[in-house]
Amino acid sequence: MNYYQILQVSKNATQEEIKQAYQNLVRKHHPDKNLENEGSEKFLEIDKAYKIIKDPALRKIYDSELFQKESSHLIIHNSVTKKDFTYDEEENIYYYECKCGSFYTIDNNDNSTSEDIILSCDECSLNILVKN
Ligand SMILES: [Zn+2]
Repeated sequence: MNYYQILQVSKNATQEEIKQAYQNLVRKHHPDKNLENEGSEKFLEIDKAYKIIKDPALRKIYDSELFQKESSHLIIHNSVTKKDFTYDEEENIYYYECKCGSFYTIDNNDNSTSEDIILSCDECSLNILVKN
């Protein structure tokens, strides 16, 4: 499990959301309330995850490590930038044609991310890396 999964938040969670998730989990798993060993082990895990994710600088380092780890098992067949995508005004999405004829799409509302992202084709097993 990665730290986000341990804290039960999304990778895009705000600091406030992360704090709330942490507090909820602490309430549930605090060793004082949970006398079984499993409880305190879980608590330590949550605490460790929170120490990294609550710190913007450490979170950034962790994010890039996680990205490397998660992308290492994927076959990246192409590396493109968002400029290579075509904007579809009607659908409000950006699309890029895959080798198989299907498309990689980016939702225009999902524009907030400033990180590199990996997209999977809707049809085949290919992935592309979209550099920011
Ligand atoms: Zn494809």
